[in-house]
Amino acid sequence: MNLVVGELGKENCSCSICTNLLEDANVLKCEHSFCKKCLDKLIYTPEKNLKKKVKCPFCRVDFDPSKDIKAPGLFQQNQLNLIKLKCEFESCGKIVPYNIFETHKNGCLFNPYSYTRCEHCKKDFKQIDTKKHQNDCIDYLRNALKKSPIIKDGTIFIPYRNTL
Ligand SMILES: [Zn+2]
Ligand SMILES: [Zn+2]
Ligand SMILES: [Zn+2]
Ligand SMILES: [Zn+2]
Repeated sequence: MNLVVGELGKENCSCSICTNLLEDANVLKCEHSFCKKCLDKLIYTPEKNLKKKVKCPFCRVDFDPSKDIKAPGLFQQNQLNLIKLKCEFESCGKIVPYNIFETHKNGCLFNPYSYTRCEHCKKDFKQIDTKKHQNDCIDYLRNALKKSPIIKDGTIFIPYRNTL
């Protein structure tokens, strides 16, 4: 989340813990907003239990995580939706509205950690594991062999492709 295009009221749209743009905003009863993932670190004990009482890291006001956390109000939501972000995967670089940014990122064709389905064996694997999967996928190998075998000194080479 780097490039911010368009206007934003900074105090409404950034997280007081990580100082980045709010990611999945959560608002405390004192009206301070934090990313969900930042807040989660604060409100759960190391054993993953919800704490009874936590202080807002910004104004030190006590709050009860079970009832004092809410979604952003309409005004703040509208402000957030004015923001457009540039997809962080270089080959993509699409400018995407804030409200669908996470969805885009997770499904982005250029996200090396997003899942893709092998058209040959129908198994899901991470983009970053494409080569590894091509090595393991019997159906893929069989198909590639049919299409374009390169025979060199009696060994068959199968050319790698970026996508299956
Ligand atoms: Zn944060
Ligand atoms: Zn506060
Ligand atoms: Zn993208
Ligand atoms: Zn496969």
